[in-house]
Amino acid sequence: GQDIKKCRGCGITLQHASQDKPGYLPEKAWDREPVICQRCFRIKNYNEAAAVAVDQDEFLRLLGQIGSKHALVIHIVDIFDFEGSLISGLQRFVGNNPVILAVNKTDLLPKVTNWNKLLNWVQKQCKEHGLRTTDIVMCSAKKNQGFDRLLETIAENRGDRDVYVVGATNVGKSTLINRLIRDYSDLDQELTTSRYPGTTLDMVNIPLDDGRYIIDTPGIVYPWRYSEMVGREDLGVVMPENPLKPVVYQLDEGQTLFFGGMGRFDFIQGKHQSFTSFISGRLKIHRTKLERADSLYEDHAGELLSPPNRDRLKDMPPWTRHEIRVPKGSKCDVFISGLGWIKVNSDEGALTAVHVPKGVKVMLRPSLI
Ligand code: GDP
Repeated sequence: GQDIKKCRGCGITLQHASQDKPGYLPEKAWDREPVICQRCFRIKNYNEAAAVAVDQDEFLRLLGQIGSKHALVIHIVDIFDFEGSLISGLQRFVGNNPVILAVNKTDLLPKVTNWNKLLNWVQKQCKEHGLRTTDIVMCSAKKNQGFDRLLETIAENRGDRDVYVVGATNVGKSTLINRLIRDYSDLDQELTTSRYPGTTLDMVNIPLDDGRYIIDTPGIVYPWRYSEMVGREDLGVVMPENPLKPVVYQLDEGQTLFFGGMGRFDFIQGKHQSFTSFISGRLKIHRTKLERADSLYEDHAGELLSPPNRDRLKDMPPWTRHEIRVPKGSKCDVFISGLGWIKVNSDEGALTAVHVPKGVKVMLRPSLI
């Protein structure tokens, strides 16, 4: 029979029997080098991918194995979707192995960001989630920032451990791994990176010069993020690509903001005050009266209020309403996983509501910026 081969892009075991199953490679391409599956080939060449979900139980099983290994764990999270991409309960799975938290996509934060404050914020969040970190590194895989620090801290903490990289889908794990490969190993292997979640399918072992490995685990699919919910046509609109430009809205109670057709924020009750949006600059914000908001959405969803357009609207779950009371004297974000957040500096307090597709994680948190 033929050798078992693995795709050099995503690590999946290749097969030539079934075209719509993962790992398909036409038989005639079997001996080509480097060998990559048809899906990775498409992503690379046409920027097109079928969404493939990674089984969550399987992911937890993989994580569970790390506890008994001699490992250094790099947990990569997306600063734009911190709460949505943090693997809760990670500490339980990794046992006594050291964890380095790589906070990626810092290029998305506004230029004026106070980095010390940000680091404090991340430390506090980790504490709250029961995650003990050996180190926290802010980085941008895209802009190639923070990598020297990350590589340094990996070198300091690695000893003779294998390096396990874990994260949710779409946090920039592949981009980061590619960078690690370039710095650490002489293998010229490029993993598949794309905007579409769930690209990395199987464990990928990347040999390092010293005989140890970097192990890229599959990305866990968290269903509460916009990135898992919107079609790939709209992902580029919802996920910011450039630094966030906070926009300040002076609102009276009874006013509503629509974020394209992706979500809605109501200021229900409170004194006139300012709300600052941190969302993708490509989403148009419409301001309207709260009392008109329902009918505006009914009449204009998919058109004036888009994306998603009328077609893709049908594929989205219906909206649900989350009522959120911002306490007096607090500095908070109304956080919407994968869409962004609204900062509220409220001396007087405010009663608000967020309308988003059912399943999207919404919460109040201490303000990030
Ligand atoms: P994975 O699913 O975690 O492996 O993520 P990928 O590496 O495929 O990246 C997912 C998306 O995030 C792609 O569209 C990347 O271009 C983007 N991305 C990755 N790293 C960064 C970063 O540092 N900054 C920004 N703005 N985008 C990033």
